Amino acid sequence: MLKQSRTPQHIPPSAHQISLSAVSKPALEVVTNLAQAGYEAYLVGGCVRDLLLQSQPKDFDVATSAYPEQVKGLFRNCRLIGRRFRLAHVRIGRDIVEVATFRAGAGEIEDIEQRHVSAEGQIMRDNVYGCMEDDAFRRDFTINALYYDPNSQHVIDYVDGVAHLNEDRLVTIGDPVERFREDPVRMLRAVRFSVKLGFALNDATKNAIIECAPLLHHVPPSRMLDEMLKLFHYGHALENFRILRQLGLFAYLFPFTEQCIADDKHNMPRLALASTDQRVREGKPVIPAFLFACFLWEPLQADVDKLSGRGMRARAAFTTATFDLLRDQGVHVAVPKRIGMIVREIWNLQHRLEQRPSKSIVTLIRHPRFRAAYDFLLLREALGEVGAELTEWWTRIQDCNPNDQQEMIMALKPQKRKRRRRRRAA
Ligand code: ATP
Ligand code: MG
Repeated sequence: MLKQSRTPQHIPPSAHQISLSAVSKPALEVVTNLAQAGYEAYLVGGCVRDLLLQSQPKDFDVATSAYPEQVKGLFRNCRLIGRRFRLAHVRIGRDIVEVATFRAGAGEIEDIEQRHVSAEGQIMRDNVYGCMEDDAFRRDFTINALYYDPNSQHVIDYVDGVAHLNEDRLVTIGDPVERFREDPVRMLRAVRFSVKLGFALNDATKNAIIECAPLLHHVPPSRMLDEMLKLFHYGHALENFRILRQLGLFAYLFPFTEQCIADDKHNMPRLALASTDQRVREGKPVIPAFLFACFLWEPLQADVDKLSGRGMRARAAFTTATFDLLRDQGVHVAVPKRIGMIVREIWNLQHRLEQRPSKSIVTLIRHPRFRAAYDFLLLREALGEVGAELTEWWTRIQDCNPNDQQEMIMALKPQKRKRRRRRRAA
C-alpha cells in the first residue's frame, strides 16, 4: 500500500470519549517509560478503536519508534519474540504489554532483503522498520490504524479511521484486492470485525473477498486455526459462519464440511455454533475440539460409508476414517495433536452413549470427555439421529446419587449380545 503523505488529524480530548482511567496501567507505564527515554510511543490498533467505542479492549498494544533491542534495554522484564514480526513483550506485574516497532508496509519496500514475498504476492516475513506514518498505512482497516498518546490525550489519525468509526464502516486501507493479496487472513478479519462491531462492508471489499478467497489456500494452517478460534469462540459464531459462507470463505476453512452442509437450518455446524454462542453468553468454557468434532461429523459419516462400501468392517472403518479425516482437515486449519485426540474421544464415546453398556456406565460418566460427548449427543438428538429417551436418560443419571444410578442401570433392558461369528480358516 503506497501511502499518500499527509498530515494526520490530531483529535483533542475534548473531541473524543477516551478517558485515561480506561487505559490499563501497565500499558500506560510502558508508553510513559518509552517517551521519557526519548522515543515516540503510542497505544495503537484494536485498543484505541475499542476505547473510542466505549467498549473494553481485549488487550493494549503499544507502537514505538524504539527498535526491539532498545525496548529490551529499557525494561527489566522484556522478551523479544516472533519470527514473522519481531515484537517485545514487556512484563509488568502479571500483565504483558506487546510493544511493536513502527513498521512499513508493502509499498515501502526498499530493503528487499528484509521482506519475503511469495509468488502470490503474499508477505511471508516483514521486518522493515519505518516511521509512524508508514506504520499506520501498513495496518489492515482504517479503524484499526488509530494511535492514542496518553500524554497529550490526542488521538492521531492518518486514514480517516475516526470518521469511519462514527459512520459504522469497515474500510480497508488502500485497495482491498491488493491488501488481501498481501495477507489473505485480512479477509477473515474483515468478516470478524464487521460482525463484531455491526459495521457494513462496502461492495468493493465484498467483491475483493469473493475474488481473493482462494488465496486462503496459501495461509499456514496454524494461522488459520488462530483466526478460526477468534471467529467462533467470542460470541458471534453463528453470524460469522453465515457471512463466511455467503462470501465463499468457509469452504477454505472447512472444505469437507462445506460439501456436506444442507441448506436447512438444522445442520450440525449451525447447532454447534448456536450452542457455542449461548455458552459464551453464559460465561461457560468452550473448547476448540467440540467445534472440530461437530463440523466434521457429517463428513465423517460419509467417509465411514465409503470405507464400509469397500468392505471394511464397521469399527475399523470408523477408526480409519477419524484419523484420515483429521489429517486431511489439518491441511486447511491445523488440528494440533491434543485437539485431534479429544475430537476422536468425543466421536468414539458416541457409540458407547448409544449402547449404554450397563457395566461401564459409571466409568463413562467419570470419563474426562463425558460432558463434551454428552453435549454432542444432545445436538445429535436435535438432528433426529438419536431419540429423546436416550438423551433424557443421560441427563437424569448424571445428577443422581449412586443408589439411584444403580437403579437406572438395572432398569435398562438387557442388551442382546451380538454373537461373534468365528472367522473361517482360509
Ligand atoms: P481484537 O480486538 O480482536 O484483538 P485487534 O484490532 O486488536 O482486534 P489484533 O489481531 O490484536 O487485532 O491486532 C492488533 C492490530 O495490528 C490491529 O488493530 C491492526 O492494526 C494490526 N493488524 C493485525 N493483523 C493485521 C494484518 N493481518 N494486517 C494488517 N494489520 C494487522
Ligand atoms: Mg488486539
